[in-house]
This record gives sequence, C-alpha cells and structure tokens, in this order.
Amino acid sequence: MKDTPETGCRNAPILKERGQREVFCGLTSIIWLHRKMQDAFFLVVGSRTCAHLLQSAAGVMIFAEPRFGTAILEETDLAGMADAQDELDREVSRLLSRRPDIRQLFLVGSCPSEVIKIDLEKAAERLTTQHGPHVRVINFSGSGIETTFTEGEDACLAAIVPTLPKADTRQLMLVGALPDVVQDQALDLLGRMGIGPITVLPSARADDPVAVGPDTVFALTQPFLGATHAALTRRGARHLPAPFPFGEQGTTAWLRAVADEFGVSDELFEQVTAAPRDRARRAVAQAAETLSGKSVFFFPDSQLEIPLARFLTRECGMNAVEVGAPFIHKDLVGPDMELMAQGPVFSEGQDVDLQLDRARAARPDLTVCGLGLANPLEAEGLTTKWAIELVFTPVHFYEQAGDLAGLFSRPIRRRDLLKLEAAE
Ligand code: SF4
Repeated sequence: MKDTPETGCRNAPILKERGQREVFCGLTSIIWLHRKMQDAFFLVVGSRTCAHLLQSAAGVMIFAEPRFGTAILEETDLAGMADAQDELDREVSRLLSRRPDIRQLFLVGSCPSEVIKIDLEKAAERLTTQHGPHVRVINFSGSGIETTFTEGEDACLAAIVPTLPKADTRQLMLVGALPDVVQDQALDLLGRMGIGPITVLPSARADDPVAVGPDTVFALTQPFLGATHAALTRRGARHLPAPFPFGEQGTTAWLRAVADEFGVSDELFEQVTAAPRDRARRAVAQAAETLSGKSVFFFPDSQLEIPLARFLTRECGMNAVEVGAPFIHKDLVGPDMELMAQGPVFSEGQDVDLQLDRARAARPDLTVCGLGLANPLEAEGLTTKWAIELVFTPVHFYEQAGDLAGLFSRPIRRRDLLKLEAAE
C-alpha cells in the first residue's frame, strides 16, 4: 500500500474538452434501475432505435423482465404534437389497466422526444392526476442529447427527490442503485456499528418509507449522482463527502466518514471492519501481482473513473496516465482526488480523436473505455477493459474488492498469455 500523498490531486489542472464523444445514452441505466425498483415501469417515449437499444442491452446483460417498454413516436407524431400527447395518454391508460402492479411509472425522454419538444413534465403531472394516488408518474430524460449512460440513473433519482415526503427525524440515506447483495452487505456493516435508521434511494417499492429533510444525512454510493446530490441538498439534507467504497481503502474511508458522523467509537469500528478488511486486502493483493507497475488510461464513460483510478493506483500499484471523466464534480470525487498521487492528466468531457492520439502515444498497459472504442484499440494492440462492465458487475465494498481488481487484471493476464503463446 502506498502512503497517502501529501498534496493529492484535488487541485490538479483539468483538461476540459468539448468535442465529439463516444458514450451510450442515459436510457441504458433503465437496465439496472428496473431491477432495483420492483413496482416501477419505465416507459421510454422514443423511436424504434431506442426500443432496439433497450432490447439488445437487456437481452445481452439481463434476463428481460416486463418492467420497461417504449411508446414509439411515429413520423406522423413529429408533425402533430397534439396527436403525440393523446397517443401517450392512451398508451399509459392501456398499460396501467393491464398492469395494476405498477405503482411508479417513469416517462423517460429520448432524443426524438427532445427534438419535437414533447413536454413530458406536463404529461407526468396530467397522468398523476388521472391515475394517482395508486400510481405516481414521474418524468426524466435519458436522451443521448442530454445524458451519458450513468446520468440516466442520476436524472431518475433527482426526479424522485422532490416527490419524497418530508422527514422529521435524523436518519442516514444511502443513495445509489446497488445490486441487492452489495446493498445488504453495506447495511449489515452499518447496522453492526449501531447506525440507523437507514433508508435507501432508490427504494425497492413505492410504499417503502423513504423521506428526506434537514435531519437527513446522505452518503452516495455512486460517483455519478451530481444532480441527485443537488436535489437532496435543496431539500435540506446534508452530504457526507467521502472516497467511494471501491477496494479496501475506499470502503474503509467511506464507512469511516459515516461512522464519524454517527459517533461510532474506534473500537467498535475496528471490531466490525477488521475481518472483512483483511479479506479484501488479501483478495486485492492477489490481483495486484499482475497490475503492479502497469499503466492505465481511462476514457470518459461511466463517471466511475476517478474513484477507480484512486483504487488502482493506491491499492494495486498501477500508474494512471490519463483519467478522463464525462464530468468532474469535485463535491463528489474531491475526496478520491485528494488521495491520489500527482502525475496523471485529468480530463473532463471528450474530444475523442485527440484523446485517441494521446492514448496511442502513451501505449498504456490497460485502456478502460466504451464498447465503441475497445475493438479498434484492441486491433491496434492495446489491451482494453469495457467500462460498462464496471457498472453491471457488483464491485462495491469489501467482499467485492478482489473481483474489482480482477476485472482489471484479467485482460492484462490474457494479453500476456497470448504473447507467450505467440512466442512459442
Ligand atoms: S435516446 Fe437517443 S441515443 Fe439513446 S437510443 Fe434513443 S435515439 Fe439513440
């Protein structure tokens, strides 16, 4: 383990780029959100392209469940806005009469609905009046014009926040959609420290008692929730800034921030965390044998880049050449940047051709990027890791720390084996 650098990277210069970007749109996040929210339905107001994206993403990555669909905007809708609104109302009525189990309906905007400026906020208000209180209708945008792929979750959670009732008592809110098994581990660790009551956003069901108010403190589990952070702050809640819970050190620092807020003693903290910390350290050390001394280059994609670069450089001995992120919210990722040794270039936004040139010049041992860039870079002899896998795989907290390191070490090991075979 490296010592904490004295100055860190919090104030490192940031290369801001505003060119073409190669990232999935926010509709992608429906794939994991619909699994989390058991009585929700996501109705994408979009084109056949949007329907295909969802179907192919769902088909590849999950067993599709009937909790999302697409209200297709036909070409005629583009000419007649009134028709589009009527058609949407009819579609929603048909859906809700067929599916009384739906308690939250999300109208999800897309590029076509952005282009024709169909007002989904008004539609959500109108439909809530019509179908409430049994069903709450909320809108957010997953359009590729407005969002990158993890921003879909941020937009969804930020849209839920104003609809939450006011909380009058002190509570901890965990914010971010985690796989159930990972969420349970976090709740177990916090519960054993005596921290509570704890609520989670997004909740599994509309009736779960999630509320927010001035006595709410919240801890983010995902670094891409900037709009949700702002929405919760507007409701009077207070953010607990911390490194994100990736790896042994990130998890310990995240838990420590929450424990300090709730007055947990050092002894109790040690008692609860010692065993899983040790397991996590040993699991990471195994993968670090492959990663140590290797260089890594992040293209901007999921907004997980900075916390992951912190994990790879501090816990796995890697050198970060460039850490690109679609957005850099210092309120969120500042604590991770503080823990990083100076050296990497931080870039925000993307000008994909310029960034490809920098990656080719650096020839890193591992390039973390989107699906669209991975194949061409592999063809040029660079080893890549698909960033999207990091969002679909359980990677948070102690018990997943080894798997997280393994996601990065596997492609490098595979490449080394191929080289050996070629040499024989
Ligand atoms: S929202 Fe835009 S980018 Fe996303 S699938 Fe639909 S048309 Fe494509």
